Amino acid sequence: MWQQLVLIVLIGLATTIQQGTAERIRYDNYQVYQLQPQTAAQLETIKELDGSSDSLLFVDPVHYLGTKINVLVAPQRVTDFLATLQQSDISYELVDENAQKSLDLEELVADPNRRRGEYTWTEYHELNDTYAWLRSLPEKYPEQVSVFVAGRSYEGREILGVKISYASSVDGATKRGIFLEGGMHAREWISPATTTYIINQLLTSTNADVRKMAESFDWYVVPHANPDGFVYTHTTNRMWRKTRTPYNGCFGADPNRNWGFHWNEVGASSNACSDTYAGPRAFSEIETRTLSDYISTLRGKLVLYLSFHSYSQLLLFPYGHTSELPPNYKDLKRVFDVGVTAVSKRYGTRYTGGNVYDAIYPAAGASLDWAYGKLEVPYSYCFELRPSGSYLWSGFRLPAEQIIPTGEEIIDSMLAMIKGIGTL
Ligand SMILES: [Zn+2]
Repeated sequence: MWQQLVLIVLIGLATTIQQGTAERIRYDNYQVYQLQPQTAAQLETIKELDGSSDSLLFVDPVHYLGTKINVLVAPQRVTDFLATLQQSDISYELVDENAQKSLDLEELVADPNRRRGEYTWTEYHELNDTYAWLRSLPEKYPEQVSVFVAGRSYEGREILGVKISYASSVDGATKRGIFLEGGMHAREWISPATTTYIINQLLTSTNADVRKMAESFDWYVVPHANPDGFVYTHTTNRMWRKTRTPYNGCFGADPNRNWGFHWNEVGASSNACSDTYAGPRAFSEIETRTLSDYISTLRGKLVLYLSFHSYSQLLLFPYGHTSELPPNYKDLKRVFDVGVTAVSKRYGTRYTGGNVYDAIYPAAGASLDWAYGKLEVPYSYCFELRPSGSYLWSGFRLPAEQIIPTGEEIIDSMLAMIKGIGTL
């Protein structure tokens, strides 16, 4: 008996040491169902379930018909959940019998203590590791790189950015700026990995086209727009999406539904427990408020704004709140076309997309619309990175060996887009 007790204590200790202070949320035996609502009434039924309890985790937004909505369902909830679907005649498919098994597949995360060498793109990194790397850059490139604080988080973290600038002018003309924003949604790990990859290429690439691109603009790159959420995906819940502001017993607003341009008009939730909660008001989140304040200081300078998310392999442009096309639609579409062609050249990666409202779904309050509509950045896009949308529910977990290919093809695409804009 005492041997068993000792064993239990030892296992307990090992688990605590492994997990640090926070208890990791697990999805053992959660089943994943893919729902396809066909009528407005069916959509309403599903909306009522979204954010109603911890035993249902909606992976996809529940605001529109005609697409698939993946839901993780706790084992004790399955019978009653399926009964609700059947009552409303909602078609569904079981796509994963045990969500935790899919989450347990190895995901390479660099250990900075073990690493002790160069920061690389063959593993994912934790926030502190990336911040240490960003802070080390001005030492290495004192003429070109400066670090700036682009904002703050609810838990008091900095939203760090780097500015890369090779000279203040090109042929005597003041340089235009390009803003790259990553990590808005916490669980989309490929986004910060891609933005840091781009930073490194802008500084180290020997390719003539990349060099010209790097040196022709002032670059502002923020890999972690939602640092609290990102840390939470490492310590506690790999599937976390939102910020971490407490709201009536639930946590966080969706930072990409929180920007002050046609805020909460469509495609967002007013339920604080939903994953697409727009927040109590526009810019309620300190992250979006402070970051937008910073970006506003660049008014008139920026020619291109790129927001990086995952997944589905889409390139998107304004608007999300209406199907009405933006004023310079023709130019946005032309640059979109060259971007989508170029992204497939290296590895055949197929992207689709268009204006947010028609290409995916109505969604108001995203940063790309705010940058375009409020800040008047003429070219504003969002990349939904690898994998493709046909991937099952766990596409946020892109194998680390795909970080570099993703970065390579996105740089190909950016080069083509910037040439298309006519500023290179
Ligand atoms: Zn996202």
